[in-house]
Amino acid sequence: MGTATGLEGKVAVVTGGSRGIGRAIALGLSAQGAKVAICARNLEAAQKVVAEIEATGAEGIAVAADISRESEAEGLIQAGVKRFGRLDILVNNAGITRDGLLIRMKEEDWDAVLDVNLKGAFFTTRAALRPMLRAQSGRIVNISSVAGTMGIPGQANYSAAKAGLNGFTKAVAKEVASRSITVNAVAPGFIETEMTAVLSEDRKRTYLSQIPMGRFGGSEEVAALVSFLVSEAASYITGQVITIDGGLRT
Ligand code: NAD
Repeated sequence: MGTATGLEGKVAVVTGGSRGIGRAIALGLSAQGAKVAICARNLEAAQKVVAEIEATGAEGIAVAADISRESEAEGLIQAGVKRFGRLDILVNNAGITRDGLLIRMKEEDWDAVLDVNLKGAFFTTRAALRPMLRAQSGRIVNISSVAGTMGIPGQANYSAAKAGLNGFTKAVAKEVASRSITVNAVAPGFIETEMTAVLSEDRKRTYLSQIPMGRFGGSEEVAALVSFLVSEAASYITGQVITIDGGLRT
C-alpha cells in the first residue's frame, strides 16, 4: 500500500470488527499500514471486512470468537500472533446492550452485558499483554461509553460494565506503564451504528436535543481517535478515558 503511514509492520487485533465502530477501526488501522485480526461471533461477517481490507492490498484475518469465553478470547490473540508473528495493538471494541429498567432486569441480561463488555476485555487484554510485555511495547484501547461516566437510565447493566472498563483501563495502565505499553479508553456518545439503530425515534430525539453539536457521531470519527491513540504520537498518553460525544457530557 503506497499511501499507508504510521503503522507499517504493526499487528492489531480488533474485537467485534465485523460492523459498526469496530469495522471502521479495523479499516482505519489497515489504511495506516497495520495487519489486522478481526473477530466477531459470526465468521462470515468478519470475513467480509477482511475482504474489504484485502481489496486495498493490505492483510487481515477473520476469527470466529465469543470473547466472553476465556478459551475463545485467548484463541483470538494466539491466532493473530501465529499468523502475523507479533502483536502491537489490541482494541477491545466488542460490546452488547440488553436495555431495560433495573426493576425488571433479568439476571441473564445483567450477566450477558458484563460478560461481553467487561470480562471479555479482561480475557483478551491478559492474553495480549504476554507478547506485549516481552516486546516492551504495545497499545491497548478499550471502547467504553459515556454511559460509564454519566449513567444512562435503562442501561444500568451497560453503564456498570463501561464504568468497570474505565477502572480496568486505569489499573492496567499503571501496571504496564514502565514497559512502554499504553492503555486508554475511548468513551463515545451517540454514534450511528446498528447498535443504536434499534433505539426508538423518541429516544433518539431526546439524545439529539442534549448534544451541543446537534448531530450523532460517525464510526469513522471514533476510528480516527483510536488511530491517534495507537500511533507513536500518543506515546505519553496512558490511563485516560477520552470522551468523543459532540459536547454531550461537557
Ligand atoms: P455493533 O452492535 O454494531 O457491533 C458490535 C460488534 O461486537 C459486532 O461486530 C459483534 O459481532 C461484536 N460482538 C458482540 N458480542 C461479541 C462477543 N461476545 N464476542 C465477539 N464479538 C462480539 O456495535 P457498535 O455500535 O459498533 O459498538 C461498538 C462498541 O462501541 C461497543 O463496545 C459499544 O458498547 C461501544 N459504543 C457504541 C456507541 C454507539 O452509539 N453506537 C456508543 C458508545 C459506545
